[in-house]
Amino acid sequence: MSIQVFRLNFRLRTGFRVGGGQEVGDNVLRQLRIGADEVMIPASSWKGMFRRVSEIIFNSEEHFEGHSKKEVDVKTINTLLKSDEKFRRIAISEIGKDVITQNGINVDKLDSGSLTDLMKLYNEYNCPIERLYGSNYFAGGITISDSVIRDSRIMERIHVTIERKSKKGSEGHLFGEEIVDTEKIEVRVIVRNEFELWKNTLKFLKEIGYFIGGSKSRGIGYIVLDEKESEYAVINNVIETPKFTELREYLS
Ligand SMILES: [Zn+2]
Repeated sequence: MSIQVFRLNFRLRTGFRVGGGQEVGDNVLRQLRIGADEVMIPASSWKGMFRRVSEIIFNSEEHFEGHSKKEVDVKTINTLLKSDEKFRRIAISEIGKDVITQNGINVDKLDSGSLTDLMKLYNEYNCPIERLYGSNYFAGGITISDSVIRDSRIMERIHVTIERKSKKGSEGHLFGEEIVDTEKIEVRVIVRNEFELWKNTLKFLKEIGYFIGGSKSRGIGYIVLDEKESEYAVINNVIETPKFTELREYLS
């Protein structure tokens, strides 16, 4: 089994803010920090960003509808239950042993509710987005690191919100927002499946870019993948040391 390992570097021009959120009595949107001089982008923020880009590329109505509509016949599901042990284990834990037996689906125990669940499970299991990023039923094939940025400058911007609905005229509310002023962020990623979708996701991030964190509508958090500063390695044997090469080769 082959896996791909990435050291990705992104360029920023407008800084970013990954929350933190807002503390009670404080009208400043804070950046997530570790200790006094380090800020963090958690893996979950990265994963959300990568997933949205992959969804844009994959552009499947069925996926956006949560795989709730596409019908699958019992025979097709049975075939997968017999050939794929992992799918079988997930199906047993989600649908139950009385329905998913050694010989496949016990149709006598299959009510319309469990059939709907089973079809949804089948469709998600076969969807590249869920295969790569995971679903409620199973883990995906991607692992992402947190990013820690040291010695970063944090600026505070002041915004005014106007409540247009207020009858007393435009009443302004002041609030602040922390922005991490940095030009470069690094993240490490390991990918075990859906290599084509992943490659296209990185191409999109290189050519167009996307947003990470909060305040997207104010243009904050715009990132672009820097292929010259990024590297990858393909590992076929887990005990070998990865040989990193420029990402440019991977994306060409
Ligand atoms: Zn899907």
